[in-house]
Amino acid sequence: MKEDSHDLLFPSPQKRVVPVLVPMPAPGPYSYSLPEGMDAAPGAIVQVPLGPRKVIGVVWDGGQTAVDARKLRPVEKIFDCPPLDKPMRRFIDWVAAYTLSPPGLVARMALRAPAAFDPDPMVEGLRFCGHVPEKLTPARQKVLDMAGDGLSWTKSGLAHAAGVSSSVIEGLLRQGVFEQVFLPPPPLVAPPQADYAPHRLAGHQHDAAEVLVDAVRAARFSVALIDGVTGSGKTEVYFEAIAECLRQGRQALILLPEIALTTAFLDRFHDRFGSKPAEWHSDLATRTREKVWRQTATGEIRVVAGARSALFLPFENLGLIIVDEEHDPAFKQEDRVFYNARDMAVVRARLGNLPAVLVSATPSVESQVNSQQGRYQRIHLPTRYADAAMPDLHLIDMRRHPPERGGFLSPLMLRAVQKTIEKKQQALLFLNRRGYAPLTLCRVCGHRFQCPDCSSWLVEHRFRGQIQCHQCGHAEPTPQACPECGTLDHLVACGPGVERIAEEVERHFPEARTLVLSSDLGGVKRLRLELEAIARGEADIVIGTQLVAKGHNFPLMTLVGIVDADVGLANGDPRAAERTFQLLSQVTGRAGRTGLKSHGLLQTYQPQHPVMQAIVSGDAQAFYDREITEREKAALPPFGRLVSIIVSADSRAEAEGHARQLRQAAPPVSGIMLLGPAEAPLAMIRGRHRFRLLVHGRRNSDMQGFVRAMLENGPKERRSIQVQVDVDPQSFL
Ligand code: ADP
Ligand code: ZN
Repeated sequence: MKEDSHDLLFPSPQKRVVPVLVPMPAPGPYSYSLPEGMDAAPGAIVQVPLGPRKVIGVVWDGGQTAVDARKLRPVEKIFDCPPLDKPMRRFIDWVAAYTLSPPGLVARMALRAPAAFDPDPMVEGLRFCGHVPEKLTPARQKVLDMAGDGLSWTKSGLAHAAGVSSSVIEGLLRQGVFEQVFLPPPPLVAPPQADYAPHRLAGHQHDAAEVLVDAVRAARFSVALIDGVTGSGKTEVYFEAIAECLRQGRQALILLPEIALTTAFLDRFHDRFGSKPAEWHSDLATRTREKVWRQTATGEIRVVAGARSALFLPFENLGLIIVDEEHDPAFKQEDRVFYNARDMAVVRARLGNLPAVLVSATPSVESQVNSQQGRYQRIHLPTRYADAAMPDLHLIDMRRHPPERGGFLSPLMLRAVQKTIEKKQQALLFLNRRGYAPLTLCRVCGHRFQCPDCSSWLVEHRFRGQIQCHQCGHAEPTPQACPECGTLDHLVACGPGVERIAEEVERHFPEARTLVLSSDLGGVKRLRLELEAIARGEADIVIGTQLVAKGHNFPLMTLVGIVDADVGLANGDPRAAERTFQLLSQVTGRAGRTGLKSHGLLQTYQPQHPVMQAIVSGDAQAFYDREITEREKAALPPFGRLVSIIVSADSRAEAEGHARQLRQAAPPVSGIMLLGPAEAPLAMIRGRHRFRLLVHGRRNSDMQGFVRAMLENGPKERRSIQVQVDVDPQSFL
């Protein structure tokens, strides 16, 4: 913010026109005039008229535009709010250019707290002014004991502290014992204390923490990758970096993939620092969001733990960014602005000249390569803390030990579950498929139930009595008869979902307490409660989707069974093997984190597959080496670059036609290949037909330049057609 103070103090006369970036998909800022007596430096948050509306925007950088100030509409108001500082403005420009998104849409992510720009109103309070009341009851005496020192209190705070009812306070107020004062609103969270309850770090943890602490002290751009098995103490180690950041008086940001579900993390932070970090995610109440935004901007909030969009919070003095579970696909936003928060965190650190720390038990291939090539400093924690053993892992060859007819669990798996619950320990069965069955068909005519608006099968949800589309949310009651041939009661469920596994488990273990954990079965609150219940041992068998893979600590969980280890391997995604490896390692890593002997069992039809072998042998390095070699051969990321372009329209012909014209508009550039258009694997979503183009370039190719040229020379934009550009795509559907 300092860099702007000169402009603020000495506005030059020719600066009466300012560019303002408004939160709209416009290609750049619009010009506004500054009324007499109003000064707004770059970064100031302002209200401007736009068409018939008033919108909030940010004064942007950039020289004088050649427009006549008299014809412009004026800036209406400057908010009493810290401006977006220069690194943040550069960051917005950078993300826009990289993702090929309008800068206004990126700025919108930084301004998503409508009422945060006005200061919070002061709250009423009172202060003892020396008069002793006529009648001194014991209750009144208690109040005076608390407030006699002349400090300010809120009414309710004083009543609470003195242990009296608010009527006692009111009575004293009427007698003129107190004077009324106005207090700034209390901060949302108390500031964390660097040295509240530090843990004693084990030797290699200590060395790792030292590296990070030095990076924070150096206060310049660096990237470290903490790569360590689950339970090795990665969190403990980066907490030391946060502690140092707090000592330096700077703010820290922790990005987590599933913040809404990580109560355990917040509690742990509280144990270490004496207060919780501020949370930031989409489930926050609007009022809380606004407070977090404002108090991050004013610096009252010192540490934010948030989902990817926390990257766009206006920190007053950011000194450190941590990206935990950096490999997690949830860091990729695939809506409006397509960006990967892990990568953009590194960019933000570079523009803000501060350290970033990426953390994972199973780092992404991209980060592995970056650390091998020396761009990131690798910090390795090879063993679990305090001798907690890793679970011993075994494959179940489903060809040799098949489940009984109609079932999905091998007798070996069932026996292991049996043994676990006999010992009063917990078993987790993992299947990344919501609902009862992924496909329903008619046994008589073969009709398959498909979404009317998407090219995807309807998934039966038996708890709800519905069949649902997981693409668009379309749902209908589960039919009794086949709509095609009319036969009653001949519909069959094909394949398993978590509900169906629960049914099988209940058949075998009717006495056990079985719990299904799936994102469609209740909101965040309910999930949080269920996770806590599991941690307290209030379930014997948990059946869950990937929700359970993320960061929870279940002390009694000693068996993890993967129902279908092959699920993720069979699609056209270049990261399929990596994802499967990460997810399975993460889930099996849930077991035995507190020292009890633990097991992981993976049901597979391809026991020889390198992914399966890497997981059971515990030789992660062998897996990465092989994967990195393959990627390099195929020039896939990070050795080459990809941009995916999806063209969608109401009619198939229109979508295909537009995609073909785009292709013809592509400039000839050596090293860049254009594939397609081809119908997307998900050929229709919400009634819109989809065609895909894939741009494949070298590591140093100007992908953005290529795509921009293609879009500019290509067919005119039409309302009925949507073109979505996804730089560094994660999804190939
Ligand atoms: P990771 O993040 O690598 O999965 P954690 O930081 O969660 O590992 O550590 C695993 C468990 O071991 C946690 O319960 C943590 O509190 C404990 N732990 C790790 N290191 C220490 C330490 N130095 N002192 C006390 N407890 C530790
Ligand atoms: Zn659908």
